[in-house]
Amino acid sequence: MICLGIESTAHTFGVGIVRDKGKVLANERDVYKPKSGWGIIPIDAAAHHNKVSREIVKKAMDSAKVKAKDIDIVAYSRGPGLPPCLYAGMNFAKELANEFVVPLVPVNHCVAHIEIGRVTTGLDNPVVVYVSGANTQIISFAEGCYRVFGETMDVGIGNALDKFGRSVGLDFPQAPKIEELARKGKWVELPYVVKGMDLSFSGILTESLKKHKLGEPLENVCYSIQEVFFSMLTEVTERALAHLGKDQVLLTGGVAANKRLQEMLNTMCMERKGKFSVVPREYSGDNGAMIAWNGIIAYKSGQKIKPERASVDSVWRTDMVKIGWI
Ligand code: AMP
Ligand code: MG
Repeated sequence: MICLGIESTAHTFGVGIVRDKGKVLANERDVYKPKSGWGIIPIDAAAHHNKVSREIVKKAMDSAKVKAKDIDIVAYSRGPGLPPCLYAGMNFAKELANEFVVPLVPVNHCVAHIEIGRVTTGLDNPVVVYVSGANTQIISFAEGCYRVFGETMDVGIGNALDKFGRSVGLDFPQAPKIEELARKGKWVELPYVVKGMDLSFSGILTESLKKHKLGEPLENVCYSIQEVFFSMLTEVTERALAHLGKDQVLLTGGVAANKRLQEMLNTMCMERKGKFSVVPREYSGDNGAMIAWNGIIAYKSGQKIKPERASVDSVWRTDMVKIGWI
């Protein structure tokens, strides 16, 4: 079975083509870039997705060496995400499903991140640290669904880092530049905000900007913001492992690229004699392959939708998704 999956929830328009057992045949994308100094403008991002969609599908089908008749299902990212971007992806997916005359499968973006992570790393029952632009969640499978054991109470960690970077004049994507600057920095005092199992980043962001404004060198603030953000995440992840009696940690989402975050989680896992894996870069940021792979397992468990009944859900929570395949 071959599935073509479409990702369109935010910046990335991605098309993945995946075969049974998670064999990725193609994973193409084009990323909307906001103009300098701006964050994402949803309508502009959706216009970007509409503009590149045909070209990216062609690229993916060429590199997978498949023809329209080889595609068995089309999957799309139903949410969560920015509504204009979700509609752009859904409408295009409906068009393709009708064109190829194949079933359409709606997929949850966050669950897709987890499933591509499980299949590419081989961790079967992990506590998942899902850290992206808009999302920050500690998730694990328990009693029939993926449950969120801890999450941000305000902004996503990637957006918090990007916003800090933008406010001090760095260009998009700001977080990798913060990581670079942080290597030369020293600790300055910042608040540390963990409430139960949940995290809050926005107050720390405000305080970091204040420290910089008052003359603290940028490298020091970059170092310190990373240290607190990532320590907070590591603390909550460790508590999730302890409570659930699990011993695997899977790190995914765009922020998973950060070496300091990887180091902290790895150290914690080693001390507990657990296993730690980072989802390969190609599949940890938003991508079409994860939607295609989740499309296959969801379809095999009986999930599909008639194109005329397709919908989007911009706030579709991870723990509301029916998981028929585990
Ligand atoms: P996603 O939403 O999964 O596509 O992830 C995008 C987010 O990952 C953006 O907020 C990026 O700034 C962030 N990101 C990318 N590289 C890094 C890095 N090296 N360190 C921290 N965050 C990063
Ligand atoms: Mg994502």
